Amino acid sequence: MSHDARKARAPSVILPPATIGILGGGQLGRMMALDGRKLGYRFTVLDPTPDCPTSHVADEQVVADFSDVEAARRLAESSDVVTYEFENVDADVAKALETFSRVPQGSSLLATTQHRVREKSTLREAGIPVTPFVPISSLADIDLAIETLGSKLVVKTCRGGYDGKGQWMVRSAADVEAYRGAFEDILAAGGSDEVAPLIAEQFVPFHGEISVVVARNARGDIKAFPPSENIHVNHILHLSIVPARYPVAVLDRAVKLAHQIASCMEIVGLIAVEMFVTEAGELFVNELAPRPHNSGHYTMDACVTSQFEQHIRAICNLPLGDVQLLTPVVMVNVLGQHVDGVLTRLSTLPGNVKVHFYGKASSRVDRKMGHLNILCDDVDDALSWIDEQGIWS
Ligand code: AMP
Repeated sequence: MSHDARKARAPSVILPPATIGILGGGQLGRMMALDGRKLGYRFTVLDPTPDCPTSHVADEQVVADFSDVEAARRLAESSDVVTYEFENVDADVAKALETFSRVPQGSSLLATTQHRVREKSTLREAGIPVTPFVPISSLADIDLAIETLGSKLVVKTCRGGYDGKGQWMVRSAADVEAYRGAFEDILAAGGSDEVAPLIAEQFVPFHGEISVVVARNARGDIKAFPPSENIHVNHILHLSIVPARYPVAVLDRAVKLAHQIASCMEIVGLIAVEMFVTEAGELFVNELAPRPHNSGHYTMDACVTSQFEQHIRAICNLPLGDVQLLTPVVMVNVLGQHVDGVLTRLSTLPGNVKVHFYGKASSRVDRKMGHLNILCDDVDDALSWIDEQGIWS
């Protein structure tokens, strides 16, 4: 590790009013800045869109493309510490950030979580249960995957896929044939990928999905928020239900796995661990996100500390906040198609419904525009309330 890289990970405390630079100006950056401001930090954000959601609550915006190394250098030079709100950070940009500022999360975590094969291999080596998988570098590898994993596969791009994009269900040789064009294009474009451009995973007939958001600071303190039960619609998170409706033993195991991952990967900051739960209560880690996560938005109103404050505390090497759940809660996402319904009811919403809008200038179908945290005595009441609104049906 170079001197600069070592300096970038130095574990001293960063006190307010230090400036925190955020790469990415969407809702996650905005909510980080809102909570970080309460602690007295200042914020600079880099995002290509002027008037991006984070810019409304930051002191300064560098308007530039995410691959602009010179702009990343400007962000780093004007910040005491830099973080990011998405994991697909260009390697040259990550290097510039580490050279000219502190990046406590480090670039090796990014390199691991940017690539599904690297991520799953790292987890598997650490003894974490992951979905059985085979790296795919050629069409012949898919035949091999069918032989090894069985005929029901999920083929995914190793880089850049999200919300179900870059993903294909393969149940037969006919499916491989049907997707041949798409696979060939990705394999050709990713020919220089030193690992593999695609991954084939065994299809897990899961009962449900849960996630655990866990924080670690540079002193090695670790705290995990209560697991959230996640319901997706069209591959996009729709609901997070907390407490998750699974046996306590399953949830305890999920929290233990999250602790283990944070510890063995020496995470600094937050990491969201997404898992499948099978009918028998087995857990398989599907994906990691090295940042605050949509499934952790419930913490904003239902926990002593929000995931955003926790992230700021972790990267600044402050003591981590209490993660206790104060009340059951259901988080429901407000996508573009739900905005009118929520706005129409805004003046009559009950006081236990906490409204969060991200200040995005334009709305479109499936775009994340905000979320509601419905605080309740029993999650079934909150789920019934959501149903009764007719906004999400
Ligand atoms: P991902 O992009 O890996 O988070 O996958 C998006 C969604 O696709 C997950 O939330 C699951 O609902 C589904 N999915 C992904 N991988 C698998 C798998 N191996 N088996 C079954 N379903 C999967």
